[in-house]
Amino acid sequence: MNEPSLYKAAWLWREGGWSTDAGFAVDASGTVRDDPGGNAESIGRWVLPGMPNLHSHAFQRAMAGLAERRGGSADSFWSWRETMYGFAAAIGPEALQAIAAQLYVEMLKAGYTRVCEFHYLHHRPDGTPYAPPEAMSLALIEAAREAGIGLTLLPVLYMSGGFDGRPLSTRQQRFGHDVDSYLRLLDALRAHEDDDLRVGIALHSLRAVPEAALREVLASELAQVGPIHIHIAEQIGEVQDCLAIRGARPVEWLFDHADVDARWCLVHATHLTEAETAQIARSGAVAGLCPTTEANLGDGLFPLAAYLDAGGALGIGSDSHISVSPVEELRWLEYGQRLQTRRRNIAARHPDDSVGETLWRAALAGGARASGLPLGALRAGARADLIVLDDNSPLLAVRDEASVLDSWLFAGNTPLVRDVMRAGQWVVRDFRHHDEERIATRYRAAVQRIAAG
Ligand code: ZN
Repeated sequence: MNEPSLYKAAWLWREGGWSTDAGFAVDASGTVRDDPGGNAESIGRWVLPGMPNLHSHAFQRAMAGLAERRGGSADSFWSWRETMYGFAAAIGPEALQAIAAQLYVEMLKAGYTRVCEFHYLHHRPDGTPYAPPEAMSLALIEAAREAGIGLTLLPVLYMSGGFDGRPLSTRQQRFGHDVDSYLRLLDALRAHEDDDLRVGIALHSLRAVPEAALREVLASELAQVGPIHIHIAEQIGEVQDCLAIRGARPVEWLFDHADVDARWCLVHATHLTEAETAQIARSGAVAGLCPTTEANLGDGLFPLAAYLDAGGALGIGSDSHISVSPVEELRWLEYGQRLQTRRRNIAARHPDDSVGETLWRAALAGGARASGLPLGALRAGARADLIVLDDNSPLLAVRDEASVLDSWLFAGNTPLVRDVMRAGQWVVRDFRHHDEERIATRYRAAVQRIAAG
């Protein structure tokens, strides 16, 4: 049996905050073990657990920046969605793997060590299944392995084109399943689970999943373990349609029809009443916030202060990948609130709290929960997923443990993640991913083929 590797840092972020001169051990499988003492390798001044990215549609990275030109009428989420559907039609398993691997390299370099892939691009563009039917899911699993990022795969159930139960449009055909074929997909994917791959459930949204199907999936044996994610209350139009057709607001309706608990991740949850905000907080469900995408799409602002005061759990996702950076997500989560309230330091709910520390701590814990991981910290039993900040950066000169996270999150304009360890292996060293040239070359060729039609 191999001896564990021993590491230490001048400052190590433990569950509650920074510890000085702290060490940990990593066993041969890449899991953190209790520090047995002995000669530890010093890996840096500022060492933190990597951030889970709780919401991703990988293929959308390749269209980032292609929907920023004004259209004929008022642009919104719905006009953006048309661009996205057109783009998705050109992507098969090979292109998806190339795009996702490039994205996952970018995520690792930015400080994300795990990603929850909310995956609905299941079939061929005409809606017929690939052989095997899970080919697109396997492309994502392969991409995560190549890049070395941890993956929580969330195959999406997508059945109807609106709350009225209308069938999927031509362009939505490739997203669709009935309940039986969805459960078969889930079963097939569960066979691939290991220390780094978890398979959970995603319901696309209430508008895409009829009530009977929701009930059937949640009652199935396969739904008794793993995280459950759903897009909810992202758009005012969605809230209005839900009210008109189901007689309740989306969050209200969901809590009336499902046992929402800590296994759930409610993605966006933007448009909430006070009662809904408190209800999500009480349930232990994670609010899956994607501030750069929500800003880019013009969605609206999450009621952060009320939610934190109610003890709510949250995590961050890069969703459409208009930006791939935990720094930007957390910064804009706070800045959106400041712009709206004309006040400062909103996420810090108590005197002397640091905004950066509060947000980092919350997003680590909520992100781990939404990923189906037991722990969000470098503790015995967790995967050894960590990042080392660049202590040579002038920005971090004369910063102590009380100010380093705020400086990084609010003033870090050049990347400050120097090294990244994933499951005990260094995947990024000195700002470079070990396979980034090959993955970027293949990505360029794939995007060129898509553009050429
Ligand atoms: Zn999404």
